[in-house]
Amino acid sequence: MALDIRSIKGTQDILPADSHKWQYLEQAFLSHASLYGFQEIRIPTFEDRRLFIRSVGDTTDVVQKEMYTFTDQGGRELALRPEGTAGINRAVIESGLIHGPMPLKLCYTTSCFRAEKPQAGRFREFHQLGMEVFGAQSPSADAELISFVDSFLAQLGLTGISLEINSIGCPTCRKQYHDALKAYFAARKEQLCETCLGRLDKNPMRILDCKNPACGELAAEAPVVLDYLCPDCRSHFEGLCRRLDSLQISYTVNPRIVRGLDYYNRTVFEFISGDIGAQSTICGGGRYDGLIQSLGGPDQPALGFAMGMERLLMVMEAQQVSIPERPPCDLYLASMGEEASLRAMTLAADLRGEGFIAESDLIGRSLKAQMKYADKIGAAFTMVLGEEELQSGQASLRNMATGETVTVPLDSDEIARQLYNRDLQDLTSGLDLSQLMGMMSE
Ligand code: ATP
Ligand code: MG
Repeated sequence: MALDIRSIKGTQDILPADSHKWQYLEQAFLSHASLYGFQEIRIPTFEDRRLFIRSVGDTTDVVQKEMYTFTDQGGRELALRPEGTAGINRAVIESGLIHGPMPLKLCYTTSCFRAEKPQAGRFREFHQLGMEVFGAQSPSADAELISFVDSFLAQLGLTGISLEINSIGCPTCRKQYHDALKAYFAARKEQLCETCLGRLDKNPMRILDCKNPACGELAAEAPVVLDYLCPDCRSHFEGLCRRLDSLQISYTVNPRIVRGLDYYNRTVFEFISGDIGAQSTICGGGRYDGLIQSLGGPDQPALGFAMGMERLLMVMEAQQVSIPERPPCDLYLASMGEEASLRAMTLAADLRGEGFIAESDLIGRSLKAQMKYADKIGAAFTMVLGEEELQSGQASLRNMATGETVTVPLDSDEIARQLYNRDLQDLTSGLDLSQLMGMMSE
């Protein structure tokens, strides 16, 4: 029978040929994050739907159009997380972390769910790498996050990614700006899409983020928020620019960036790649000083960002950035007969204990089929165990690249020594004598 139940549109299987790239990206991110003193947080996949309505905002595309919501067996209204920030904010309040030492610096790798139209770089289940900082009002924190992303992208070997920043002010200065925007859009009401008509009174800034081309054209000529910043917001923004200048991070100020989520205030930023087509924003972030309090926590400022892993991997692919390959099998132990198979299994187990990748036959195949498999998985060495080897207590270890063989006792330490020798040779080939002496004296 043919497979008649398929994966859901906009979701992806990450197959073994690619999963090492995901592991690499996550590990690179987490270890880079620890250099900056960030610790990982993991939160649930679904939450009370109201959490997202209250934090992401009920006039946003994410909440109005993209959220996967459901009612569970207990009649609870739930939603799959469309992003990480809301859940992390809830978690730091609920756990009391928000009352601990400040700044609180958290990072995460997570899946997110949005019912969007699937296309290149836009999925319904996608993955983010992100960070949140709590309790830091100074623009130093904004600069630190931006500098993290900048250096992480450089460490991955990516180039040609531009940084755009903006300030969208605070509730005080935004009041005046909203009035100006409202007046501007109200005079052009008939050109707005249906959704934006609804936003006009409640949240006119959301119109600037609308994906409808007609709204986009109007937005391009709309008043810009930078002209309306209050003195405090202006000085915060200038403080950020000064810090980015001294960190030698180049950026452009783009007064059109408002970000798609309601919780932002002051700093917003995006990292954009020219290599992956229309879905070009690989990272978006900003400050959200009022969110913790609006969720029932103390008055603590906060900020964060999220990078889309699918888009990052697309840029890495487009730029042919090298990703370490999965290490191949060190030794494949082929066997003939029950007893040899048992010995192969125990030797493999002991070698794994010493850190080697070792495999033995699990199917009971012919020797020929086992050797074919060893070749397919790229085993560096093979060893065949049969009655003769068991009796003599030794077997021949074959280097699959050179064809060389060496006879070794059936002892995991002895085999390990041979495999180590090979590793050392790999390490030292390509080094000159003085480098080698240096390594040996360390
Ligand atoms: P966009 O304007 O592309 O819809 P967004 O403003 O909705 O992005 P954020 O909510 O800020 O995106 O999410 C941060 C990052 O997550 C984005 O910059 C992007 O890299 C990634 N991202 C967002 N939505 C998707 C998606 N549907 N599929 C893949 N990646 C996504
Ligand atoms: Mg979006």
